[in-house]
Amino acid sequence: MTFASLGLIDPLLRTLDALGYTTPTPVQTQAIPVALAGRDLMAAAQTGTGKTAAFALPLLQRLTMEGPQLGSNSVRALVLVPTRELAEQLHQSFVEYGAQVPLSTYAVYGGVSINPQMMKLRKGVDVLVATPGRLLDLFRQNALKFNQLQTLVLDEADRMLDLGFADELRAIYAALPKKRQTLLFSATFSEDIRMLAGLMLDNPLSIEVSPRNVASSSVQQWIIPVDKKRKAELFCHLLKVQRWKQVLVFAKTRNGVDQLVELLQEQGVNADGIHGDKPQATRQRALDRFKKAEVQILVATDVAARGLDIDDLPLVVNFDLPIVAEDYIHRIGRTGRAGATGQAISLVCADEVDMLSAIETLTRQTLKRIPQQDFDPLHRVPLTDASGQVVRKSKKPKKPKVIGGGKKTLGKWLESNEPSEPPIKAIRKVPVFNTGPKKKK
Ligand code: AMP
Repeated sequence: MTFASLGLIDPLLRTLDALGYTTPTPVQTQAIPVALAGRDLMAAAQTGTGKTAAFALPLLQRLTMEGPQLGSNSVRALVLVPTRELAEQLHQSFVEYGAQVPLSTYAVYGGVSINPQMMKLRKGVDVLVATPGRLLDLFRQNALKFNQLQTLVLDEADRMLDLGFADELRAIYAALPKKRQTLLFSATFSEDIRMLAGLMLDNPLSIEVSPRNVASSSVQQWIIPVDKKRKAELFCHLLKVQRWKQVLVFAKTRNGVDQLVELLQEQGVNADGIHGDKPQATRQRALDRFKKAEVQILVATDVAARGLDIDDLPLVVNFDLPIVAEDYIHRIGRTGRAGATGQAISLVCADEVDMLSAIETLTRQTLKRIPQQDFDPLHRVPLTDASGQVVRKSKKPKKPKVIGGGKKTLGKWLESNEPSEPPIKAIRKVPVFNTGPKKKK
């Protein structure tokens, strides 16, 4: 299979050649012809599968081949993403993939001044990558018009809902022309996502490129049981004795990120952190430096790190387990990419047993436990397995909780107005992804 056989035009083929992309990835093979034909698409694909090019290439081609002259404040393709980092990353990808076509691309997101963005949008832009909140601000201040919009891409759609962007998505949906192409990409397909797709997509083709919710087999995973208050000590110990080079570390809270970074820096370790409270420029700088290996340890919350494409990362450490079990898959997906092997180590304390159980149920595997000498926990981590059982000594076995107490309705995602990085209280169960035909809107 070649990119040419997928129907891509010469300027794009030349760019792919220059980038050294010789063979399309599975998601590209499936998505590109469908998207080129103008159909709606619903794709289950995670970061690392090549999904960005899967929607960016056909989108760039269609904009190049057709469409009116760009009006002032107009946008012809809109790509919605959950986080600022992802907006910046996708914008860079569009710049890269669109190097040989005469199209303009731009990214808008919150946390930075809106005025330069308004100025930039005056002439209109062919491809706009945006986070939902800032996009709406710009629209409401008449800096943006959607009458020329041809294509909408929802990237990391599950994350947008997790972050409570349902209200913004509803408002954006209401402002867009009804006749348009919509491409939805999501790592996981919860009931809410399928409802969102039912509303926003028109007779979409569904594709799924890797077994859903099954963590990458190229990643060796294990847990180290440890008392909560000794996690930092254990991390520093492992960093030293294992001589870890570059590590992406996930912590549950913004405070947790700051505390670990501070501790590491006190010990002379080159560490930085990213989370939602930090100014955008600081987050981006930390990330860029980590990507260039100028920073050894990057500590992040799930929100800040979701979807980021970091090459050749050998190790991910879960300093805390994620509250939402699916985030475990996203986290460890940062390593073991493109045929490389990676390691994912989780430091797990007794309090986190329900989260551990939910992760094992979701990934259908019992994670190996490798105790660390001198760090055996005083508070034992009860035994768990992939069936969702937690073997507590004196208590009844407990199953992982379902967020929101059970089934959600379409009204629920439409009505939600949670803030960014909401405190998620329980572990979510994911309904089975139905690949059958979708309802027309
Ligand atoms: P993505 O899943 O879009 O974040 O892409 C993951 C990584 O794969 C990025 O670094 C891309 O540059 C790279 N990539 C995407 N498609 C291909 C391809 N067909 N051949 C080689 N590398 C690719």
